[in-house]
Amino acid sequence: MEVLRGKGASGGIASGILRFYKRKSLYVEKRTAKDRASEKERFDRARELADAQLGELVESTAQKLGEENAQLFEMHQMMLEDADFLDITDDLITNEGLNAEYAVQEASKQLIEILTGSGDDYMKERAADVEDVTRRVIAILLGESSAGELLDGPAILASGDFAPSETAEFEPGTVLALVTSGGASNSHTAIFARTMGIPAVIGLGGMLQEKMDGLPVIVDGGSGTVIVEPDSDTIEEYSRRKSAGDAEKEKLKALIGLENKSLDGASIDVYANIGGVDDADLAVQNDAGGVGLFRSEFLFLQSSSAPDEETQFKAYRAAAEKMGGKRVVVRTLDIGADKQVDYLGLDREENPALGFRAIRICFDRPDLFKTQLRAIYRASAFGKLAIMFPMIASLWEVQKAKEIAAAVRQELKAEGIEFDEKAEIGIMVETPAAVLISDILAAEVDFFSVGTNDLTQYTLAVDRQNEKLERFYAADHPALLRMLKIAAGNIHRHGGWIGICGELAADTGLTATFMAIGIDELSVAPNQVLPLRETIRGLDVSKCKADILGSLEGLW
Ligand code: PEP
Ligand code: MG
Repeated sequence: MEVLRGKGASGGIASGILRFYKRKSLYVEKRTAKDRASEKERFDRARELADAQLGELVESTAQKLGEENAQLFEMHQMMLEDADFLDITDDLITNEGLNAEYAVQEASKQLIEILTGSGDDYMKERAADVEDVTRRVIAILLGESSAGELLDGPAILASGDFAPSETAEFEPGTVLALVTSGGASNSHTAIFARTMGIPAVIGLGGMLQEKMDGLPVIVDGGSGTVIVEPDSDTIEEYSRRKSAGDAEKEKLKALIGLENKSLDGASIDVYANIGGVDDADLAVQNDAGGVGLFRSEFLFLQSSSAPDEETQFKAYRAAAEKMGGKRVVVRTLDIGADKQVDYLGLDREENPALGFRAIRICFDRPDLFKTQLRAIYRASAFGKLAIMFPMIASLWEVQKAKEIAAAVRQELKAEGIEFDEKAEIGIMVETPAAVLISDILAAEVDFFSVGTNDLTQYTLAVDRQNEKLERFYAADHPALLRMLKIAAGNIHRHGGWIGICGELAADTGLTATFMAIGIDELSVAPNQVLPLRETIRGLDVSKCKADILGSLEGLW
């Protein structure tokens, strides 16, 4: 039995067989290099970048888990300097004039053959490391990300980390839990696990090893523990804890159908965040009052080309119908940054979070944007859909997005297609600029939904994906609470409503603060709806409101 300690990113207990995520092989073409010297330079640059990536992993792992666990990545760095590796690649590029990715793949094959042929277990393990390192270099050379092979049965899935395009492909029911060596609590891997209600432990560093593939494990997402090959006492202990957790969940079911009303009668809506139509079932099961955020980009991440109008229409209509007339806020395409798809052909960027993403791409690709808006409007005839634009920083962006939406409505009218003319239009408030001009933006829209995940990274200048910055990433920072208050005051003055759809919404330690500020809706992972309702029903907001507002005033 071995106990690995990482960070709990999504609560709950799961037990099963650990499976390492098998990424599909990257497609490497054999080509003749146009210029051998510059091909060699390409290879050297890719190797440098791989070395830098591994250096970051060494540092963060050492910081969190100690030097010993960081050694694996140091060894990977050393492999990049391995004389045999360099000799083989150099020969193929410089002497044979072949392309760098092919040379790396060939070198990888030859080295793996030698290691696995040695019959020595230690050497065999090193073969997996060679594959890992060379894969990293090839991916850099190709500028690609690759989706993995799907599991053939339920399992606990392990990897260095998962890209959103990968989590988007996971079949519900087959992934029992996620465990990763890297990862940050607000990354989309963590959000995915919370939305799906599956346990996740991240940041295990070098403790998580490929040789564990196929072993039975227990994952405790609450304490951030992974137990490999648990003994019978441990299995019994955790099955007791799991039963207690299940009983707690059962108890919460008694809250289904009850109001989100505090002891003194203050109300707030509790909605669910979803990434696809299947998640709407989870929202219904957990008695969400609506969907506060439908991350529509997951429809795009799941396919190999942009989903057409009909495919999108069916998805939005299904979500609207499943929610049975309750409000469903569809966020228009928020692709870019960490959410990448190959088929849009987006360039690699130095600062992707500050780059070409979300509404910025939609303005550049009116074909994509209009198709999506047509699909949402058509689906609005079948329920209560609202439209929300992401990454807004300026007034013109809202006006332009609204103009395009108006043109789409005109088109549909001319075609005699039914839609809800009153479908609300709102924006994500996730840039400090949007907060500071929220008085102006409020006049343009029906609602604000505060995306605290991005608002935190942009306000505190802390990359939400960077696990080394976790302690600087404080979504409950006074700056954020002040911003909520400013935005709430402004939208209310214009008769609109305000929600929070970032992960902070589920922080029950702040529910009273949100209610005191006047937040109208909190949108959380489906399985967080009932715990939040329980908290709300135990609060006396009138008692603490003056203190809370006073402390916020005191911040000025
Ligand atoms: C946010 O930024 O808070 C948000 C809800 O959007 P996402 O996490 O998808 O960026
Ligand atoms: Mg966001």
